[in-house]
Amino acid sequence: MKCRYHPERDAIVRCEKMEVAYCEECLDNCEACTDPCGYCKFRTQCIIWERCKRSEKRYRLERESRGGEGS
Ligand SMILES: [Zn+2]
Repeated sequence: MKCRYHPERDAIVRCEKMEVAYCEECLDNCEACTDPCGYCKFRTQCIIWERCKRSEKRYRLERESRGGEGS
């Protein structure tokens, strides 16, 4: 199992929804959750989500998905 963005690295987590894996750096940078705003039935058991749900990236994606409304 190798990282999606770093094929030379071993992955430490895997997105069950998208069936892709990521290394520690990607997890730390919150590049691992491909769709933090969409519905995911694996979320309750997802390490990626647990680490990224309060990240800046997620808030940014959420704002963008609302089309900048409420600013
Ligand atoms: Zn990586």
